[in-house]
Amino acid sequence: MIPAAAYVELDINALRHNVGRVKELAPKSKIIAVIKANAYGHGLELVASNLAAQVDAFAVARIDEALRLRAANIQGRILVLQGFSGPDELLLMQHNQLEAVIHSEQQVDLLETENLPAGLPVWIKIDTGMNRLGFRPEQFSDVLQRLLQCRNVQAEINFMTHFANADDLQDDKTTRQLQLFNATTKGCAGLRSSANSAAIIAWPATHQDWVRPGLMLYGASPLLNQSARQLELLVVMNFYSRIVVIKQVKKGEAVGYGGSWVATKDILLGVISIGYGDGYPRYAKPGTPVLINKQRVPLVGRVSMDMITVDLTGHTDIKTGDQVLLWGAGLPVEEIAGYADTIPYTLLCGITRRVQVIVKK
Ligand SMILES: *Cc1c(COP(=O)(O)O)cnc(C)c1O
Repeated sequence: MIPAAAYVELDINALRHNVGRVKELAPKSKIIAVIKANAYGHGLELVASNLAAQVDAFAVARIDEALRLRAANIQGRILVLQGFSGPDELLLMQHNQLEAVIHSEQQVDLLETENLPAGLPVWIKIDTGMNRLGFRPEQFSDVLQRLLQCRNVQAEINFMTHFANADDLQDDKTTRQLQLFNATTKGCAGLRSSANSAAIIAWPATHQDWVRPGLMLYGASPLLNQSARQLELLVVMNFYSRIVVIKQVKKGEAVGYGGSWVATKDILLGVISIGYGDGYPRYAKPGTPVLINKQRVPLVGRVSMDMITVDLTGHTDIKTGDQVLLWGAGLPVEEIAGYADTIPYTLLCGITRRVQVIVKK
């Protein structure tokens, strides 16, 4: 097969290494690998099948993602973070042995009124300050009692919460959320889970029975002031394309849509086959680096659907057809995210279907 211009190379050994880092950081906790949104753009089935032996459970956001995992013969525990929203989904979850996060009164009502062939494993989500999903602490004991008495619920009920600010080491909100979670569930039989990647790394007191790493599994840092390298995480996704053509642009000429970038001297321009149609961020600013032959060269002009342009002036060794790294080992996705006023999460999960996937084992 002729290689596509734009492709991601996924390093499975790096993925496995990063699970090992989670184990080193939280040695007493079980691991729920978070693989929602197509495993942060890395491929749901691919990531699940390669991690199944190393982790204790998977988490996805929605039922359709969990069903894809079952269809791919992933047989272990799968948490659905948004749970079910109607009787059909409830039955489907039970039928496929999925575990539901219970966060709303409607879900409890449904569990009490439906008639399932066997009990559903559930996790009660407590909202300790994120104000997104979950019961308020004052609702918790009532919900727990109802679920304990519900014949459609499996006996062991687990508890979870989610942190809003764990990536900010100066902010004591994480500590306050943890204290509220612990006080709310105090003395209740059941396992606890609160830590996302940032909390696994920065807030050891949050590790509890189960940790829920997402971003760090893919080798990106969730913390602003610490790089993946410093955290000993290895990059999984390397995003490549190549140079389509190299040409001269004269001083005073504009490059790209809108003509917003104008050459202030004669330059050598490289046109690269990558754009927002592949998931390269439309809002990457001029100056955003790409890596060619281990050299950083700056983006100039606007990102278009299929192409970007870079300034190759002075890089006489760079030729048409040369490989270009958009992000990956040696060019952190966190850094590119900074140039595009976004976070590494959006870049990773934004890779589109046009991009070829190459798996490096
Ligand atoms: C996405 C998600 C995670 C993982 O978060 P990361 O920051 O990627 O580690 C954990 N828990 C819940 C509830 C989530 O939605």
